[in-house]
Amino acid sequence: MAKLRFQALQEVISRQPKEVIFPSNEVSDFFCMRVFDKPKMEKFLNREAYKSVIIAIDEGKAIDRKIAGQVAAGMKAWAVGMGATHYTHWFHPLTDGTAEKHDGFIEFGVSGNMIENFSGKLLAQQEPDASSFPSGGLRNTFEARGYTAWDVSSPAFIVDTTLCIPTVFVSYTGEALDYKAPLLKAMNSIDKAAVDVCQYFDKNVTKVIVTLGWEQEYFLIDDALYNSRPDLILTGRTLMGHQSSKDQQLDDHYFGSIPERVASFMKDFEIEAYKLGIPVKTRHNEVAPNQFECAPIFEEANLSNDHNQLVMDIMKRVAQRHNFRVLFHEKPFAGINGSGKHNNWSLATNTGINLLSPGKNPKGNLQFLSFLVNVVKAVYDNQDLIRASILTAGNSHRLGANEAPPSIISVFLGSQLTTILDEIVEKVTNRKMTPDEKTELKLGIGKIPEILLDNTDRNRTSPFAFTGNRFEFRAVGSSANCSNAMIALNSVLANQLKEFKTDVDTLIDKGTGKDEAIFQVLKKYILVSEKIRFEGDGYSEEWKKEAEKRGLTNIISVPVSISKYLTKQSRKVLIGNGIFAEKELEGRVEVEYEKFTKKMQIEARVLGDLAINHIVPTAITYQNTLIRNVQGLKDIFTISEFKELASVRIEHIKEISLHVSAIKQQVKDMIDARKKANLIGDVKEKAFEYEKNVRFYFDKIRYHIDKLELTVDNEIWPLPKYRELLFSR
Ligand code: ADP
Ligand code: MG
Repeated sequence: MAKLRFQALQEVISRQPKEVIFPSNEVSDFFCMRVFDKPKMEKFLNREAYKSVIIAIDEGKAIDRKIAGQVAAGMKAWAVGMGATHYTHWFHPLTDGTAEKHDGFIEFGVSGNMIENFSGKLLAQQEPDASSFPSGGLRNTFEARGYTAWDVSSPAFIVDTTLCIPTVFVSYTGEALDYKAPLLKAMNSIDKAAVDVCQYFDKNVTKVIVTLGWEQEYFLIDDALYNSRPDLILTGRTLMGHQSSKDQQLDDHYFGSIPERVASFMKDFEIEAYKLGIPVKTRHNEVAPNQFECAPIFEEANLSNDHNQLVMDIMKRVAQRHNFRVLFHEKPFAGINGSGKHNNWSLATNTGINLLSPGKNPKGNLQFLSFLVNVVKAVYDNQDLIRASILTAGNSHRLGANEAPPSIISVFLGSQLTTILDEIVEKVTNRKMTPDEKTELKLGIGKIPEILLDNTDRNRTSPFAFTGNRFEFRAVGSSANCSNAMIALNSVLANQLKEFKTDVDTLIDKGTGKDEAIFQVLKKYILVSEKIRFEGDGYSEEWKKEAEKRGLTNIISVPVSISKYLTKQSRKVLIGNGIFAEKELEGRVEVEYEKFTKKMQIEARVLGDLAINHIVPTAITYQNTLIRNVQGLKDIFTISEFKELASVRIEHIKEISLHVSAIKQQVKDMIDARKKANLIGDVKEKAFEYEKNVRFYFDKIRYHIDKLELTVDNEIWPLPKYRELLFSR
């Protein structure tokens, strides 16, 4: 095994950066080249089909079955012209990643000859065998059929030689089995609720869309080193490994110059991304060694999320051309920063207004304030649901690990906005505000954005920060599908906006003027949700104490967090607003528990195997060398000389023995605990059992392995060490 490690290191040393050349200096020359976008639809579809697809896109409806045939024919003509031979319905099942089943365009014609076919029926609806996707008991295996149907709001694209059609995935009986269907529902729900509120300010607003700009963090590890770490291969993270003497202490990686091999990889995947219409814009080094980030220009949330999933897929593929592996796990290495996926989130109207952007005009600013305050209140009322949307097995290592916000949800607004909210509370007493006071307040808001956008007043430790014209939800995990977070945020805001409308209308009905009514309701909301606002250091111990005093929740257990999907409040938001049916929500929660349990189960197995098959034998081999050494000393020295010389060495032998025995015992206990947990039938109970009694051993066992790593001969240590994984290139 140690041979493998040294071979891998040799390979890494010999690597050269690959030359990558942009197809053209002008990205616009090849941007969207592989996307069936509107200009291509116009070219390949007849007028009727084109118009009908555009209407379907604009109104968020399914395409008319009657024209599906024409659309399919046009899409196929374009795809075949681009070299495509297969097509697939591309969807987001409840696993990590996306799914696809490729079918050839070919079919037998009536006379038995081979023809290329792709009918409208196939475009609109397909029935993949769904029995092996997680569904939380929603779908009996004997009706192992799920339907997929084209999501027209996300255009088809070609990867390699396959035409991919973004689709929703629902069960035979109509329950959503994916992330896309509920995301679309949540966005629909916020569209309605937000338009209603916008109507107070501007009658021209008839549609509100959600905007999302994700920032994707990841690690790059050399292929050869990756392949000598079974834990990375099987679990996505290192289950053992002593900290490197140097890692990120010197802050010399962040925004440092990008290594050449890495830059080639970045260029290469960016080219692919551009061809697929993904507007990737920013690339830089992150805090930890070998950690990087990529971020696009924001887009409509559903499309942006498709693009995020697609980019992750492309990155994995392109990385291999450069002998790299991309790690999307939230915490691949203990002791240094993990990876997140900041979700920059806002709402935009059909009139071109960003609803979370304050401006110069007082009327717009009351609208901005209304949305801002409603977001704060929605987050306050739904901390647990918001956390549940992001707290996974992987992300649980990251939250609260001195690099990421804790498991306490709080909102950062910046000092200026905080002052404005305080002013509202103060000014909107029971008396009416004078028109001047109102204008003054609204005008004051216009000064805020520059400062926040300028980064000077930003708080990097907040899980949910206002950043000048959007909120940035930073607690999302790097491997996550953004949908979970987006479903939660948009549903809680939709629910809140409805409540706001009711409260304001009630006052208006009683004769209060519109602006006055809005100010009064905002004042009430500002006061009740005050506790969620926090401007200080979110990583500090004091905040944990303070948050507890404020009654904010701090949940670190994944199963406990998952259970919060089913509280009365969460049900009210998710079921009450039509995002999930009762059964769907329960099914989804079951899937989450199962996913957690399975990840723990796999990690426990891999850890046990590595400990017993790799580490213990290596430690014993080294210990035998020491024993032989001591025996030799005994042969050539006098007893008293020997005693003096050998005592430290004998201690060393004992120390190795202690670690080896501890590992063996704890692995045995962990296996027993696992066996016991596996007997539990109930998925929820099992997840709790795994968290409490199996996961419990991971750090304990690791502790002894990491100690051995420090003491055993480097020449025989089987696994690449942290310094090699993080610094060899
Ligand atoms: P920073 O590191 O300062 O947070 P980045 O440029 O890395 O900034 O990422 C900011 C992200 O926020 C980008 O994806 C950007 O497109 C996105 N963004 C900007 N405005 C909005 C908006 N109105 N809605 C959603 N996302 C936005
Ligand atoms: Mg950011």
